[in-house]
Parts: sequence; C-alpha cells; structure tokens
Amino acid sequence: MDDALAPCPECGSAYTYESGALLVCPECAHEWEPAADTASAERVVRDAVGNVLADGDTVTVVKDLKVKGSTASIKVGTKVRNIRLVDGVGDHDIDCKVDGFGPMQLKSSVVKKV
Ligand SMILES: [Zn+2]
Repeated sequence: MDDALAPCPECGSAYTYESGALLVCPECAHEWEPAADTASAERVVRDAVGNVLADGDTVTVVKDLKVKGSTASIKVGTKVRNIRLVDGVGDHDIDCKVDGFGPMQLKSSVVKKV
C-alpha cells in the first residue's frame, strides 16, 4: 500500500502534492487543507448542558432512561461515578457502571457533570 494523497476536490486530479500543511493541485492550482486525521484529533464529549466531560467524571442522569432487557429504568438524578469516554455503539460515548444496573453505555446528551 502506498500512502496516496487525496485527489483534488476541484478537478479530481490524482497528481496532488503536499506543500507545507496544504495539498496543492498542479492542474487547477487549487490549494486546500487535507481532511483532519480523525484518529489523532482530540474528541470532545460534552454533557447535556455543554460541559466538557473527561474520564473519571461523576455525572447525573438528566432524564429517565429505559434499559434494554430490563423493566426498570434509570431515573433522573441517578448519579454515575467514574465514567469513561468511549467511541461506543451509535451515539453512545460514555462507558460506565450504574448502581443497580451494572455496566452500560450512555449518551453524553442525557447526563450532566456534577
Ligand atoms: Zn485540481
């Protein structure tokens, strides 16, 4: 596998080259920033009100949550300690353990940092 550069977004030319932080197309002279490398980009996870969450934070649940495979639901105000930010299933970006329910993944949009 060679590390081919992305083709020019303007004309589709494959003869693009790097010029500093930019990619340049020799055919139409278009210059652009290459797509961000999402693997190395720092991901920011925010709670329901916009606080930035971090590993180890304690949060409370801001709305009743149905739990798959259980008739019980996690109630508003339930405290969840020591969360871990993950790239989970769907929009789930928090890995945690909820008292009485066990380990699960939550969406950051349903919690608030304490
Ligand atoms: Zn071009």
